[in-house]
Amino acid sequence: MAQGQVRQLGCSSSSLPAFSLLLPLPGEARKAACKQILGLAWAEMAACGRGLRRAVGASPHPALRRAHSDARGRLKPEYDAVVIGAGHNGLVAAAYLQRLGVNTAVFERRHVIGGAAVTEEIIPGFKFSRASYLLSLLRPQIYTELELKKHGLRLHLRNPHSFTPMLEEGTAGKVPRSLLLGTDMAENQKQIAQFSRKDAQAFPKYEAFMNRLALAIDPLLDAAPVDMEAFQRGSLLQRLKSLSTLKPLLQAGRILGAQLPQYYQVLTAPAVKVLNQWFESEPLKATLATDSVIGAMTSPYIPGSGYVLLHHVMGGLEGMRGAWGYVQGGMGALSDAIASSATAHGASIFTEKTVAKVQVSSGGRVQGVVLQDGSEVRSKVVLSSASPQITFLKLTPQEWLPEEFVERISQLDTQSPVTKINVAVNRLPDFLAAPNAPRGQPLPHHQCSIHLNCEDTLLLHQAFEDAMDGLPSHRPMIELCIPSSLDPTLAPPGCHVISLFTQYTPYTLAAGKAWDEQERNAHADRVCDCIEAYAPGFKGSVVGRDILTPPDLERVFGLPGGNIFHCAMALDQLYFARPVPLHSSYRCPLRGLYLCGSGAHPGGGVMGAAGRNAAHVVFRDLRSM
Ligand SMILES: Cc1cc2nc3c(=O)[nH]c(=O)nc-3n(C[C@H](O)[C@H](O)[C@H](O)COP(=O)(O)OP(=O)(O)OC[C@H]3O[C@@H](n4cnc5c(N)ncnc54)[C@H](O)[C@@H]3O)c2cc1C
Repeated sequence: MAQGQVRQLGCSSSSLPAFSLLLPLPGEARKAACKQILGLAWAEMAACGRGLRRAVGASPHPALRRAHSDARGRLKPEYDAVVIGAGHNGLVAAAYLQRLGVNTAVFERRHVIGGAAVTEEIIPGFKFSRASYLLSLLRPQIYTELELKKHGLRLHLRNPHSFTPMLEEGTAGKVPRSLLLGTDMAENQKQIAQFSRKDAQAFPKYEAFMNRLALAIDPLLDAAPVDMEAFQRGSLLQRLKSLSTLKPLLQAGRILGAQLPQYYQVLTAPAVKVLNQWFESEPLKATLATDSVIGAMTSPYIPGSGYVLLHHVMGGLEGMRGAWGYVQGGMGALSDAIASSATAHGASIFTEKTVAKVQVSSGGRVQGVVLQDGSEVRSKVVLSSASPQITFLKLTPQEWLPEEFVERISQLDTQSPVTKINVAVNRLPDFLAAPNAPRGQPLPHHQCSIHLNCEDTLLLHQAFEDAMDGLPSHRPMIELCIPSSLDPTLAPPGCHVISLFTQYTPYTLAAGKAWDEQERNAHADRVCDCIEAYAPGFKGSVVGRDILTPPDLERVFGLPGGNIFHCAMALDQLYFARPVPLHSSYRCPLRGLYLCGSGAHPGGGVMGAAGRNAAHVVFRDLRSM
């Protein structure tokens, strides 16, 4: 690795943080220290399997934290470009810029790179994709252009990918039904026919309909939105140039053709209205509707949820449209691969370097950043993968931004319904609807997104309504994933890591309550009770858990309001209105400052598109400087 270049990897790939600290110690001392670290965790758990309740809600063990903060590198006083935040988008932007010959440095405030695409060993021996956990949306060209496989990326495709067990049917002692969906259409139709033959017939047509929409949206994702500002206020040359930004829109229109009005309806209608046009059975509709509300403080009964539905079917893996998979080593391994691609070409990535301020010259041009430790780093341009609110309200001197722009940024909708719970278990959940194999090895449904409390769209709506009253849902929507069912590197033998993506939990609780330890545990207990009803014995298998409510997501990952997409993926905050109208081209009113994260087009998810698009815009601007 070149001098002045520091790359801090997460707990994924080859780094074993706590243990690497112990390696220099002699045998006995190492054993003792190891025991101390693992103490109440692995050793005790393996012995009695009773659990590590002490770890409930715990933050990383100090030893783990230290392991990430040791490295330091020589910081140069000047780069061509500085990127704020080593979220995956910041890393993608750095990788592209560096390949284009722009000398780039990335500064990350945390001890680990990846932002919300990160692996952390919260509970010793258990590696969690602590925030995002499933890969699908990453733009296909990023894999190839950044040579991510060469840089260590390994994927586990999931087939089947979706499992929805029924709860109520299990109460009379018989095996309840479940809905298992994957890539085999004939098998999917058999599964759906358990609930409705008519729906089984309609399903392939629905898939083809949605795939066409996803195909049409594709070109829009890989380019900056139509440049309305250049159209309105630019020189003649700028106006002519901006005509090219219309091309992806025209391409999309051509693909949709005469069906454009139907597709317009999908984007604007409540998801339930769209699904009702195709299907009659609630388990299928509710399973599909979960994708329409993921990460959004909305119900499938509310207009606009159809767009979120699309946002979650427009990805793919290994050439398979709509496929979602696990990254070997957790999501941090993806960030590591992108970082490796960037540093291999000469980019520098620094962790535990918080940017305190964007520096602006007296002439109103960005000229670098000031770090929290007081160091000044000069650069021609600054890109930020931090959220729009952090970038423009906290890091940019306000006198350089128009008042109206600041006001609009401060009014962004950043509501979030999500509480992420990462759970370590000492055995696989045993679902009433699909009992475990005799030796407890993973079965096909264990690799799926397991949808709980998702057998009826009204259940989802009721869960949403609780949050509207300021309460965590009584019966929350739960997406349960067990990445270790396909990737044994994540947990000790026989044990598993479980990701629980739960909603709805409002950021602000009613009746003056706060998200203190009691409330956090109460929500996690409610979620565990729900899982227990579907899979008796689950609660007894839990050996530790990490609870991230919206305020925790804000604190740990820098997500305002806990919003997993930096700001809501609502129709009024998309495309040429993302983050705000007239500033959707990654540029902002301050020359030389750019957004390159999820707060910019095309928004949230581990997509890399914002980073890639922003890098191209910045490169063009640098050439004309
Ligand atoms: C709980 C959860 C589950 C999710 N699940 C999925 C999923 O399964 N699949 C999927 O595709 N998407 C998922 N998402 C969404 C996805 O993870 C995010 O949209 C995406 O990772 C955001 O990437 P980013 O690079 O734009 O920003 P971020 O990942 O937010 O990165 C921004 C970075 O900037 C850093 N930063 C902020 N301020 C400063 C500063 N002053 N100085 C230096 N650094 C700073 C932050 O620490 C952070 O590392 C999930 C998100 C969450 C939170």
